[in-house]
Amino acid sequence: MSILVVGSVALDSIQTPFGRVKEALGGTATYFSIAATLYAPVKLVGVVGTDFPQEHIDFLKERGVDLKGLQMARGKTFRWSARYDYDLGAAETLDTQLNVFASFHPQLPEEYRASNYVFLANIDPHLQLEVLEQVRNPRLVVLDTMNYWINYKKGALTEAMKAVDIVMINETEARQYAKTFSLVRATRKILSLGPRAVVVKKGEYGAAMFCANEDPRAAFFFAPAYPLEKISDPTGAGDSFAGGFMGYIAQQGDCSDECLKRAIVHGSVVASFAVEGFGVDRLRNLTREEIKGRYQEFKHFTHFEPLEA
Ligand code: AMP
Repeated sequence: MSILVVGSVALDSIQTPFGRVKEALGGTATYFSIAATLYAPVKLVGVVGTDFPQEHIDFLKERGVDLKGLQMARGKTFRWSARYDYDLGAAETLDTQLNVFASFHPQLPEEYRASNYVFLANIDPHLQLEVLEQVRNPRLVVLDTMNYWINYKKGALTEAMKAVDIVMINETEARQYAKTFSLVRATRKILSLGPRAVVVKKGEYGAAMFCANEDPRAAFFFAPAYPLEKISDPTGAGDSFAGGFMGYIAQQGDCSDECLKRAIVHGSVVASFAVEGFGVDRLRNLTREEIKGRYQEFKHFTHFEPLEA
């Protein structure tokens, strides 16, 4: 079953203590698509400028990403540049050039409208709402966001959150949105808007799912991050996580809580590979066998026995 994603397709310039890249293939929809196609077909909605290299289009097509929804507009492609310090937890944005993104409005080709699984990657919440107006009866809609929209478009973001099944957000942003330190309170506030679950990304500390359930055994699920020795570039970790998460759900065709928990582990596995290389490099040659292997490792190092009677 295929997945629809709307988000940015970008040229990223990144510096980390371990190297740098200039105008490399990036963007939230790009990372998501490359990750999710390891599991299920992906239809991409976004925009690039006339300067976008053909080799990136060819790569995404070869990967099986449906690009009928990718508009090519007159002008330059969205560009983002950022640097990370030894604490790879947060990117310092050096420059954002919206370019063709500034006047972008998503237009779904007719055959995209019946998509069952929809990922609204981190973009203006008004655009996320425009996509939702165009899809018919999706089974699962997941939304991601960032601090910028919480600061400047909180009203529209709240409307978008009301319309989705799962909100994916990092822990600092969850606290910022709800104006509280407690993640339990912050996620409860988001859950009160209507989503059935909030997935909180905690970088090197993993991910947690908070569900609207009075029983604590059904309200929380936690997965650690894979203990990596080498990290090259954390860019796209969140979108790769989302790609593994939604890819697995779409592949299984199962939206149960138990499937969502396994999907969180898949998201963690794919993100752990993504950050090993610069940009999308490691995802390019990642195999399903490697994913299975690391999934099994997760199973071992998070398993413990019940208390003895
Ligand atoms: P992540 O590291 O998962 O938060 O996402 C990194 C990606 O987000 C990069 O490839 C950027 O091109 C993209 N990005 C950065 N800022 C924005 C923005 N304001 N809107 C859309 N995409 C962005």
